Amino acid sequence: MKSQITHLECTYCGETYDHRQLMTTCPACGKVLYARYDLQAAKATMTKEALKDRPWNLWRYSEIMPVEDPAHAVTLGEGGTPLHEAPKLGADFGYDRLLIKDEALNPTGSFKARGLGAAVARASELGAKTVAMPSAGNAAAAMTAYAARMDIQGIVAMPVDAPEVMKAECHMYGAHVLLVKGLINDCGALIRRGADIHGWFDCSTLKEPYRQEGKKTMGLEIAEQLGWRMPDAMIYPTGGGTGIVGMWKAFDELEQMGLIGSKRPKMISVQAENCAPIVRAFEKGERHAELWEGASTVAPGMRVPVAIGDYLILDAIRESGGTAIAISDDEILQGVDMLAKREGFFASPEVGSVVIAAKKLRESGFLKADDETVIFSCGSGLMHTDLVHGDFPVLEKDAPDPGEYIRSA
Ligand SMILES: *Cc1c(COP(=O)(O)O)cnc(C)c1O
Ligand SMILES: [Zn+2]
Repeated sequence: MKSQITHLECTYCGETYDHRQLMTTCPACGKVLYARYDLQAAKATMTKEALKDRPWNLWRYSEIMPVEDPAHAVTLGEGGTPLHEAPKLGADFGYDRLLIKDEALNPTGSFKARGLGAAVARASELGAKTVAMPSAGNAAAAMTAYAARMDIQGIVAMPVDAPEVMKAECHMYGAHVLLVKGLINDCGALIRRGADIHGWFDCSTLKEPYRQEGKKTMGLEIAEQLGWRMPDAMIYPTGGGTGIVGMWKAFDELEQMGLIGSKRPKMISVQAENCAPIVRAFEKGERHAELWEGASTVAPGMRVPVAIGDYLILDAIRESGGTAIAISDDEILQGVDMLAKREGFFASPEVGSVVIAAKKLRESGFLKADDETVIFSCGSGLMHTDLVHGDFPVLEKDAPDPGEYIRSA
């Protein structure tokens, strides 16, 4: 089960590069690089039968993953997440089968573990000593956890007012946590400066070729979990878009390996109303998304005003016959509430957006009752308890009837 990686290829100008060197974006045009594989060789060993005996983590699909030396294929148990049915929400919204891919079960609590597991493993294999990124959220936690495991120094720059829980988690993994008096884009500029001066390897979204390889395993798993067929629709909370573009790439690879046919799910991108560059570009029929000025949303993973992979996300949406939809912050929080109360998942705000999108796309008729639809529960709600307000009664130890407090609450 060795990697069949053959080279890197630019998704924009088509230039190819040697994959055995640390690379960021395409030196010729500045756009996103993809890893390419010898899929005929991969097909010979990554068979349905062979997969039955392999552990459920990123490296299950080693043939079409970038790490070449198994010693670097380190796992913290990411991947292999369940694909649950959501029967009550499905019935509420009018779907025969609504499915939830439960990504909150990944190490560090979100699907960022997949992308950064792959990126940090490959960076370490290619000799990186320091990995760095601007992030106030899940990406920082995931990157620094894998960096700790792989003996690489992690560095994260986050705004001073970033959630304490994120600072603490990265600090515990031994990372250098730099607090910046500014916004996330200011953190990004500082990381780039550090990369120029000190050679830190920048692991920002789609700025190196391998995060999407980790993220694509969600698509591989869903195909396999459904018995090697595709669902009819996938509803994805979109920030930088690594997941959409990674899964879209994975489906092509699976088809070329003869593991699935030509059917594809409709790829549906969900963004927040006050940060919706992809939705706006989709509606205008454009292939590139302009910077969204004054971006704000309760969902940190979707607070991405400009995406370097915009054309890849928009191509996947259009080629699949999908769509893009924006959801307000109030609705996002309602979605989180519905998912918790109806299905027993306490998920992060991004997940609220896909729940509401699933509802609206049935109401508008864009999706039909018999469209088997997958939504992504991309992160845990446990980091977001600040968004929850409960009014809890406080009882004396000797309260004669605790039930009274429930009635009066
Ligand atoms: C990063 C993140 C997203 C956005 O994912 P992309 O693939 O980068 O678009 C959505 N939800 C959560 C919880 C995230 O951490
Ligand atoms: Zn290029």
